[in-house]
Amino acid sequence: MPATPGPGCPTMADAPLPVAEPWYRVERLDARLTRITEPHVHPIFSANIHLVTGRDADLLIDSGMGVAPLRPLVDRLRPDPARPLICLTTHAHVDHMGAAHEFDIRLVHPLEAEDLADPAPWTLQASSVPRAFVAAFAQAGCSALRPLLIDALPAPGWDPAAWRLRGADPTGTVEDGATLDLGDARFEVLHLPGHSRGQVGLWEPATGLLFAADAAYDGPLIADGPGMDRATFSRTLHRLRALPVTRVHGGHDPDFDRARLHTVIDAHLALWDQ
Ligand SMILES: [Zn+2]
Ligand SMILES: [Zn+2]
Repeated sequence: MPATPGPGCPTMADAPLPVAEPWYRVERLDARLTRITEPHVHPIFSANIHLVTGRDADLLIDSGMGVAPLRPLVDRLRPDPARPLICLTTHAHVDHMGAAHEFDIRLVHPLEAEDLADPAPWTLQASSVPRAFVAAFAQAGCSALRPLLIDALPAPGWDPAAWRLRGADPTGTVEDGATLDLGDARFEVLHLPGHSRGQVGLWEPATGLLFAADAAYDGPLIADGPGMDRATFSRTLHRLRALPVTRVHGGHDPDFDRARLHTVIDAHLALWDQ
């Protein structure tokens, strides 16, 4: 049994958080694709940010929590920051939309537009995470939340208590079948509801690349929270299973191949059928 701290003894709650500079981890996956993550955000809320550079335009898929400025990093990673940059928010959950307001072109599905522009309040205190989400994480088998959603600060003196999620007015909307054209690459928008009503993924038919957002990643999929629906999610998984996928980049966790996609999908369909 751990000793109880006496008066004046530091507790975990009092211990100052270390500073993590840089805040973001950058992984160059190939000549045009970079994955950016936030290793000091709790695993449940640590989402992937993908940057795809193209001939005429670049594409940013999601924007993390918005704890630290993202645009300066993204612009440094782009061959020509003067080119247009499309920021696509796959769905308006806190861990995918936090820095969307920093970008000039902000796309989202119409069903997520209102939440992107005017999201429900979020803080970094785990106690403020809506109970329905906490229940959904537990139901999916995720690791428990800690008091704070971050375990480091993005800069010295940064105050976690002052952080609030910022909304971002969409500059346009995309529905199933829309195309995002980077000049030398074309991505099709897939409407992938179930985890949220208006979630979208991106599909590149020429290569079999799939950006699946929170419809498929290599971990417990969340299907029981507010705005979620298992039956709808199951239909989305059947749709993804039928695609001639070569590589999947999900909303969380490292990328994986088609065989692993089928394993993830089949495990969840079996679980939800029980
Ligand atoms: Zn989500
Ligand atoms: Zn997510």
